Amino acid sequence: MCQHCKDSSAPNPSHFEEGDGLANSPAHVEMAWSEYNELIQGMRFFDPHIHMVSRTTDDYQAMRKAGIVALIEPSFWVGQPRTGLSSFKDYYSSLVGWERFRSSQFGIKHYCTMGLNSREANNEPLAEQVMEILPLYIYKEGVVGIGEIGFDDQTAAEEKYYRLQLELAKEAKLPVQIHTPHRDKKRGTERSMAIALEHGLDPSWVIIDHNNEETVKNVLDQGFYAAFTIYPFTKMGNERMVKVVEQYGPERIMVNSAADWGISDPLALPKTAALMKMRGISDEAIRLVTYQNAIDAFGKSGQIDVSDFESGLSVEKTEKFHGNSILRGGQQPDVSKDSLVIQ
Ligand SMILES: [Zn+2]
Repeated sequence: MCQHCKDSSAPNPSHFEEGDGLANSPAHVEMAWSEYNELIQGMRFFDPHIHMVSRTTDDYQAMRKAGIVALIEPSFWVGQPRTGLSSFKDYYSSLVGWERFRSSQFGIKHYCTMGLNSREANNEPLAEQVMEILPLYIYKEGVVGIGEIGFDDQTAAEEKYYRLQLELAKEAKLPVQIHTPHRDKKRGTERSMAIALEHGLDPSWVIIDHNNEETVKNVLDQGFYAAFTIYPFTKMGNERMVKVVEQYGPERIMVNSAADWGISDPLALPKTAALMKMRGISDEAIRLVTYQNAIDAFGKSGQIDVSDFESGLSVEKTEKFHGNSILRGGQQPDVSKDSLVIQ
């Protein structure tokens, strides 16, 4: 168990930990939304890693407005350890049920990846039970991969369940979304890739996430997809992301927000696209790293039909999910966020 997990008084979100030691550029670009929005007019975005269960309806509205048309919600650690199997079942059900419905109500196509996260792999009695129920969820509609799995503290238990889930992915013919550790990232990333290859996975079916400048070259050289998380303070800043694309080009690279309950930004993609545009990156390269590459990688699941979202998802806000609507007590859909008066 990691330090943070031992100390229950110090909640520590999975994406909000000590930095990777690579400083973000001090150059800040202060720009109003209306200004950078101009730069990305007509672009559409696919965020392949965002935890919407932790986000609000304001986020959904802002994301849609900024051009995000589809997203992938990986299953992960919810901030405190689950105490029983039922919590896992309810969480997995919400990813293919209520949260997907909620997303659709804001015009965003919602996909997910299913898996046992690395932190909770360390609770072996519970991990065993989770492995038994996972096959019930991975074949459901809209499940585009096994994820996010991999290493956190790089323990023996983490390795055991990582290997088992790689086998599950192979059997189900699903891509794999790999979370790389915050601590000792380089070694953890190398180890994750070596094990995936050892299990006979095709690297073009494996998305290595949370890369940085120290890991990207080996990931790309070995044929894997390299995902980058734009996350304030602890992961990549988007100035650094621009430089990575300048250096390596757009092939097999994808950008995500990994927004969750920590201080994170669900608009990381549109903002990064705007910054890339300002820095002279071509529209085609921007399209690849903020949209198309994620579709190509996770589309191998056979679950992504771009015609569902490429020209916008139609929103039917009077629809219900198991009898429930997101509109409470006669609320009207599409409330203007710019209005001072709240009615
Ligand atoms: Zn995540």
